[in-house]
Amino acid sequence: MSTAKYDIVVVGSGPAGQKAAVMAAKAGKRVAVVEREQGLGGGCVYRGTIPSKTLRETALSLDRIKRGAQAFECRLKEGIEVGILMHRLAEVVEAHSRYMTAQLKRNHIAFLHGCCKFVSDHVLELTTVDGLTQALQADVIVLAAGSRPKAPHNVPVDHEHILDSDSILSMIYLPKSLAILGGGVIACEYASIFSLLGVAVTLIDLSDRPLRFMDEEIVQRFLHAFIDHGGRYIGQAHIESVRWDGVTSVVTTLAGGDIIKAEKMLAALGRQPNIDDLDVEMAGLSSNERGFITVDRNGQTSVPHIYVVGDMAGPPSLASAAMEQGRRAVAHALGTPVESADHYIPMGIYTIPEIASVGLDEPKARARFRNVIVGRAAFDEVAKAQIAGTNGGLLKLVAGPDGRQILGVQVVGEHATELVHLAELVLLNGNPVDTFVESIFNFPTYAEAYRIAALDIVKQRSKIEPLAKAS
Ligand SMILES: Cc1cc2nc3c(=O)[nH]c(=O)nc-3n(C[C@H](O)[C@H](O)[C@H](O)COP(=O)(O)OP(=O)(O)OC[C@H]3O[C@@H](n4cnc5c(N)ncnc54)[C@H](O)[C@@H]3O)c2cc1C
Repeated sequence: MSTAKYDIVVVGSGPAGQKAAVMAAKAGKRVAVVEREQGLGGGCVYRGTIPSKTLRETALSLDRIKRGAQAFECRLKEGIEVGILMHRLAEVVEAHSRYMTAQLKRNHIAFLHGCCKFVSDHVLELTTVDGLTQALQADVIVLAAGSRPKAPHNVPVDHEHILDSDSILSMIYLPKSLAILGGGVIACEYASIFSLLGVAVTLIDLSDRPLRFMDEEIVQRFLHAFIDHGGRYIGQAHIESVRWDGVTSVVTTLAGGDIIKAEKMLAALGRQPNIDDLDVEMAGLSSNERGFITVDRNGQTSVPHIYVVGDMAGPPSLASAAMEQGRRAVAHALGTPVESADHYIPMGIYTIPEIASVGLDEPKARARFRNVIVGRAAFDEVAKAQIAGTNGGLLKLVAGPDGRQILGVQVVGEHATELVHLAELVLLNGNPVDTFVESIFNFPTYAEAYRIAALDIVKQRSKIEPLAKAS
């Protein structure tokens, strides 16, 4: 078996692996990226972010047409094929793949197609699709092998009637009804996309509300919109069994006896790392009780020259965080100063309406500072939302007890995932609440919500300031 030597070998070409590789190559290192799938881009491009967002864009376009159409009738054709709804996907994937291939070439990064596993802590064995093997020796190894859906023992995923987030978009026809297990990001995103496309969606979760890690007031607005679009949420549900009845329905039996029938089911009950094929024990690594390899904030493992980044390292399991982790790990390995804003990583959830967050939300801010001041801007007050017919949204600006320092922002509503970046910059620069009062915003824009929320804080502040002076 021949041995190829590199400074850095990256396993996986998703967002984490790509950014790690490019950062290393730009520092003049000899870099190889290993990918077992045909194309570059990882789950993000082929099964996750990009395909789901492409279908979402179709659902949104349809909704916009419906909302604007008083003079004509508009509805989806009976028995529409999912492929038709995702007609732009091939173009998007092709554009993405072209850009990424060019980026690797430009940076002289070797792209090795095959599956790899550890032979020792510095050597990986690569097996190509035609069965050939090669040893890859590296000073630094970055594992960015991603994750896959968890397979719960009582949900018999068959990828035909009972699907997971990797296979849901392989459905040929849009079903009439869909039961979704889970209350996390992927479950909620698909629940809102399919219900906007006219599918009768039932979201079933253990918790009394979905997206438990988000501010409740924000989540309630999402839930309200979801139910308004015809969706149903069943919380505090313990699943006893799930089975395909062999004829028309997936039958879910809940503890207590309730039965939910749907044409298809999506099991979205979390993700697990792609660790099994890597033989990490050969490198002196092992997984912890949660199934992940333990890493520090730079992605460094207990074997100092091996890093684990992206979904493989666990939550938040976002492409945006994965990219930052990839860069950060390589910067650390090369001893480059790590300038990082990772305490302000924004969170974007592409439900309909969108949800986004940066910094502390109200409950977390209250837990830390007790008396915080929260400014609210309901989208009903925002002219742009009134024009677009997308009222129902809410922006919460969370400030410290004196109502001056911004601690965080949460938004639910159209363009929330874009809007949140304005707050991110303000947080990074340490700007006060008043920045939003003193700034001039284009009219009409959604960004005006920041000014409305900031003015709300100023109003509340004016009530506590005389009290503070008097005492
Ligand atoms: C339905 C869905 C929607 C999502 N939407 C969003 C979103 O809107 N925004 C967002 O930020 N994130 C989103 N995500 C999450 C996002 O896709 C992931 O966080 C991101 O892809 C993780 O990147 P990664 O580089 O860690 O792993 P991946 O993108 O999974 O890439 C890992 C790569 O490693 C390869 N690999 C694995 N093992 C080996 C091996 N032994 N040898 C060689 N190659 C190997 C795999 O083939 C894969 O290509 C979504 C995920 C899903 C499932």
